[in-house]
Amino acid sequence: MRSLTDFVSSRALAVDASGIRKVFDLAAKLKDPINFSIGLPDFDVPEDAKKVAIDSINAGNNRYTPTQGIEPLRARLKADLSTEMGRDIGDVFITSGVSGGLLLAVLATINPGDEAIFLDPYFVMYKHLVTMAGGTSVTVDSYPDFRFHADRVEKAITPRTKLLMLNSPSNPTGIVMTQEEIDAAVALAKKYDLLIVSDEIYEPFLYDASALSTQHSVLPSAAKAYDRTIILRGFSKSHAMTGWRLGYAAGPAEIIGQMTKLQQYTFVCAPSPFQYAALSALDMSMADHVADYRRKRDMVYSLLSKKFRVNKPQGAFYIFPQVPDGQTATEFVAKAIEHNVLVIPGNVFSNRDTHFRISYATTDEKIAKGCEILNSLV
Ligand code: PMP
Repeated sequence: MRSLTDFVSSRALAVDASGIRKVFDLAAKLKDPINFSIGLPDFDVPEDAKKVAIDSINAGNNRYTPTQGIEPLRARLKADLSTEMGRDIGDVFITSGVSGGLLLAVLATINPGDEAIFLDPYFVMYKHLVTMAGGTSVTVDSYPDFRFHADRVEKAITPRTKLLMLNSPSNPTGIVMTQEEIDAAVALAKKYDLLIVSDEIYEPFLYDASALSTQHSVLPSAAKAYDRTIILRGFSKSHAMTGWRLGYAAGPAEIIGQMTKLQQYTFVCAPSPFQYAALSALDMSMADHVADYRRKRDMVYSLLSKKFRVNKPQGAFYIFPQVPDGQTATEFVAKAIEHNVLVIPGNVFSNRDTHFRISYATTDEKIAKGCEILNSLV
């Protein structure tokens, strides 16, 4: 007779979730910790968007939508993205979060043995998705500045490389790629014939002066200059809708069509009533929240840079300081948790265990208190 573990696929076994689980196990023992570990905004969905969602349920929008999503939302996103990128963006479909879009992008493109390149540190999911598809993740070390170093990336490209995965603004570093870095990434993609997957989920959270002074996004994006780019964006972070599971993917029809086909047999469609609410949310300004997070970014950076080596983030709501010499991040994080501050060790996002991630999407009081405690541990 098979033991139950004999039923488990090698695909499932190849995914290791132990790093993040250890942190959550430790956290479960804490009473009211200062929680810097959560990757989502601390504000709620705009009231008007909640009302549209409730009205949408009452109006009977409770059935499947077309696999690709409701037409008015797709049309609006296509128009907005085409304006922003300065060209016809291709096809757009609504995904079950950006996670859904990422899974479908990888499943639609990666054959066993194909390689996907991304910077280290990286958003944890990338590695696992590529593994699940039978591909190989090739990570390019971006320490200590977390910038896109084209020379390092070029050295990692092989004849098996298919995808160049970009994430700007970045989780976990908060780094935003400059126009020059985007140009260099596009040049590599053109030279070596790569598809770019651009995870832009943190796109609204941009904090430099030029980003704040304009109504329109100024995020440098590979999609502007390179039509072999799959753009992935969503509503989880921009509108605090992490539980509504809404994202979207845009790009060349040949790839988007394959992703949509796979969605038909996996997610089927994104949640129906929320698609209507998301459409209305596109007209609700989140600028006050972004300004608030910019202020929090300044606060956390000025507090931590007194004691830690740390790069100033330009976007998202994360900061990634280096732990003091002579300690691993795992050791330092255990100490922080003993002092009731919850942060994530860098080895969850990286081959290195030298840094830790703080999410500063929390109150000013918790930021002040938490940083004071972290500084006292140095
Ligand atoms: N990409 C990045 C970089 C993220 O940080 C996250 C969420 N933590 C996602 C994608 C997935 O977000 P969702 O599925 O909620 O849209």
